[in-house]
Amino acid sequence: MKVKVNQDSCIGCGACASICEDVFEIGDSGLSEVKVKEVPEDKKDACKEAIESCPTAAIVEE
Ligand code: SF4
Repeated sequence: MKVKVNQDSCIGCGACASICEDVFEIGDSGLSEVKVKEVPEDKKDACKEAIESCPTAAIVEE
């Protein structure tokens, strides 16, 4: 599973990073960035929760 954050949609609310800090972080730009090339097996559930929790649907699965 791979994910990316659409920088045009992200509002930097930080929800994804709090739900799944191993995959998402708020970067210098103030927007969310994906830290990993591939979502680790044991982080998939948290990652999916982050996708569903994003208020602007900025996180997309690739
Ligand atoms: S939850 Fe969505 S809007 Fe909020 S920081 Fe993450 S990607 Fe951006």
